[in-house]
Amino acid sequence: MFENVDLLVCGAGPVGSLVAERAASHLGWRVLVLDRRSHLAGNCHDGPAKNGVLVHSYGPHYFRTNDDALLKYLSRFAEFVPANYEVRSLVRGELLPFPINLTTLERFFGVELNAESAETLLASRRVPIARPANSEEFVLSRVGREVYEAFYLNYTRKQWGLHPRELDTSVCGRVPVRLCRDARYVDHKHQVMPRRGFTSLFASMLKHPRIRVELNCDFGEVRDLIRPRFATVYSGPIDDYFGYRFGKLPYRSLKFEFETRREAFAQPCVQINYPNEREYTRSVEIKHVTGQRHPETAVCYETPTNSGEPFYPVPRHESAALYARYKELADAETARRAVYFCGRLAQYRYFNTDEVLLEALACFETIRRRFAGARASSPLTAAA
Ligand SMILES: Cc1cc2nc3c(=O)[nH]c(=O)nc-3n(C[C@H](O)[C@H](O)[C@H](O)COP(=O)(O)OP(=O)(O)OC[C@H]3O[C@@H](n4cnc5c(N)ncnc54)[C@H](O)[C@@H]3O)c2cc1C
Repeated sequence: MFENVDLLVCGAGPVGSLVAERAASHLGWRVLVLDRRSHLAGNCHDGPAKNGVLVHSYGPHYFRTNDDALLKYLSRFAEFVPANYEVRSLVRGELLPFPINLTTLERFFGVELNAESAETLLASRRVPIARPANSEEFVLSRVGREVYEAFYLNYTRKQWGLHPRELDTSVCGRVPVRLCRDARYVDHKHQVMPRRGFTSLFASMLKHPRIRVELNCDFGEVRDLIRPRFATVYSGPIDDYFGYRFGKLPYRSLKFEFETRREAFAQPCVQINYPNEREYTRSVEIKHVTGQRHPETAVCYETPTNSGEPFYPVPRHESAALYARYKELADAETARRAVYFCGRLAQYRYFNTDEVLLEALACFETIRRRFAGARASSPLTAAA
């Protein structure tokens, strides 16, 4: 069953799917992909709710990228349709655009604004902190205390179970503040969704005569039985690979509750954030962006928790230091046994899907150079 394998891949998520596809098509290698879950697509998995509405199983996945070549490559396996990712925050009983824009500031402060007067207003509210050392200081120095307390403080506490003071600046720093009317969640050039969903996209990448996929199969249970001819790509948790030798890396998890509704749409946009009310952080009606036509809908309520599936690496100094110790072991394993650690769990880093696919491509390139020599063509083009 595990013989004649050129490349062994742990994980049938975005990383595993891309590396397997490239190795099979571009290098003609025989690839074995294992996943301990019962489905493909990793955390990008989607499927029908009870009423047939397509939902995202592990939180909403808004695909976006600035990389034309990546989108062109993915378009070989799925048709992509434009999507409007619009998020609002429930603040003081009103649904206000988020990330914060001119409209948000106008309605929050109850004044008419343009870019210039909004800048003057924010300047008068900002807390002067020259070098913000954490998320709280970062937001205070950017928008002042009122906005911080209304939009960020409790949302961040719920999301991470930690005070923004205890989190890196990057956690809240990632979200822009716009002094214009742009109400899109992100700024990327391409904001698109695979028309038939992510599971279909990754299934199509893995559908190749030289790729075999084994689901419900834990890498840890079979790793000693398989000797791949060239390399292994491991996209599982790095601490798990090394038997938690230095302890467990901390993750924040999520609980998802799906509700089907007998109406075409239940909320005005794809995502509503609840910074101050409710136990859950957000409600997501993914139908707004999948393009699916259906008389009914489904809404997912997301509540952060510390137990359960590992979703978000905790961005704190202590966890970065622990990861660094595992990374040292991983580097030695790569050099000695050609095991490559790639992906959000293997690199203990939050990546968006486009970013992780580019990481996977870089990983494939490294393997290709080591075992197949340099070729002139780009790794995203030629089939074998
Ligand atoms: C709540 C949430 C929302 C997100 N929203 C977005 C978004 O809006 N837009 C966006 O671009 N990205 C989003 N992402 C990020 C996206 O999910 C990741 O970038 C992507 O899934 C990472 O791909 P991966 O292959 O590294 O890992 P995964 O998708 O996690 O795949 C890894 C796979 O490896 C398997 N595995 C692990 N260990 C083992 C083992 N020992 N044996 C066998 N199999 C194993 C797992 O079962 C899993 O299927 C979101 C992530 C989360 C958690």
